[in-house]
Amino acid sequence: MLSEEMLTLGKKRFIIRDIFAYAQERMKEVGEDHVFDFSIGNPNAPVPKEVGEAIEEILHTMTDSQLHGYSNASGFEDVKQTLIDHINGTFDQTYTTNDIFLTCGAAAALTITMRALLNPADEVIILAPFYPEYPSFIQCGGGIPVIVPPNPDTMQIDFEALKKAICEKTKAIIVNSPNNPSGVVYSEETISKLASLLKEKSLQYGHTIYLISDEPYREILYDNITVPFIPDYYKETFICYSYSKSLSMPGHRIGYLLLPYKTEQIPSIRTAVSGAARILGFVQAPGPAQRIIQKCVNVRTNISLYRENRDLLYNNLTKMGFSCIKPQGAFYLLVKSPEKDTFQFVEHGKKYDLLYAPGEDFGCPEYVRLSFCIAQDKIIHSLPLFQQLADDYNLGEVSL
Ligand code: PLP
Repeated sequence: MLSEEMLTLGKKRFIIRDIFAYAQERMKEVGEDHVFDFSIGNPNAPVPKEVGEAIEEILHTMTDSQLHGYSNASGFEDVKQTLIDHINGTFDQTYTTNDIFLTCGAAAALTITMRALLNPADEVIILAPFYPEYPSFIQCGGGIPVIVPPNPDTMQIDFEALKKAICEKTKAIIVNSPNNPSGVVYSEETISKLASLLKEKSLQYGHTIYLISDEPYREILYDNITVPFIPDYYKETFICYSYSKSLSMPGHRIGYLLLPYKTEQIPSIRTAVSGAARILGFVQAPGPAQRIIQKCVNVRTNISLYRENRDLLYNNLTKMGFSCIKPQGAFYLLVKSPEKDTFQFVEHGKKYDLLYAPGEDFGCPEYVRLSFCIAQDKIIHSLPLFQQLADDYNLGEVSL
């Protein structure tokens, strides 16, 4: 008999993949130019030229073991030192190489954190809207996800709802800013307020409530907005970072986990993280990818394409009468469904080969998510179709 839990998870439909597969089929039927696939978040900003140069260089200058060999489970020591120097310089910190664990992207950083922190029946709070894999990641650690809805108009944290959700079983909370799927960024004021609440509740329940900050979009920001460095406000913070978006290289599977180094519990946290990585089978993050990020420590992908796409889509859709949350970061736009049944709105879009994801799995069922990390001319050509969609719902009409 196989694991019931894994069979259930394996059977669960991942609706974004279904839409992506549908898009592939439609492209075969009607031609690629006529299908507008906003479903999947595959970064399309060009991979910086420095990544290619780094690959050439490491191929020709490194020994076999430096490039292709095993490293420590947490990563090559010299790679970790380079990253820690960069992090300390950027955020004015004093992390050491004992506080960083290189991982196969943010996904592995998150599962390792869950496995390290959770005991059976511990609860982890997820702030909606959220990345749909969080509940599975929590399940991986044996915990129970508790979803807290946002302020429905702004998609920012509803602090009253959050206060009510925190209880003695709460072990951690996941924060994702810039956010997938809303593009919302939490201000310094929001992070301070969150930190105060977590401090108060940790005191009340007599144990630490950890903050897990999932930061794959840290540098994908618009309008000169900044992202606070959360450990400055709440020292019990784990940071899960990824190069999937910041260097446009998700296929290399590389990121890191940064531990809450200023806490008293840090020695046992390091031990539990090593144990968690071991039981999950993460012997090390891919060696060549570690070497690439070492060479590209100061490099980030050019996000001007995302900014232009955001402006095109947001400005035009709102002009047509759609109600949208303005993204301050990441590359997703949440659009409110103009009809009660969001799945019906998704089906209606298919009439024009406009393909987008229903918000259900993201914890915002009244919205759909459009990924705008796609070619700009696709967005331009989709606009007349969005106008037809808007007309079908009489969105341009002013009600008297
Ligand atoms: N967290 C969020 C919010 C994401 O959007 C993604 C990927 O899209 C991940 C984590 C996983 O990223 P990675 O490719 O680094 O595993």
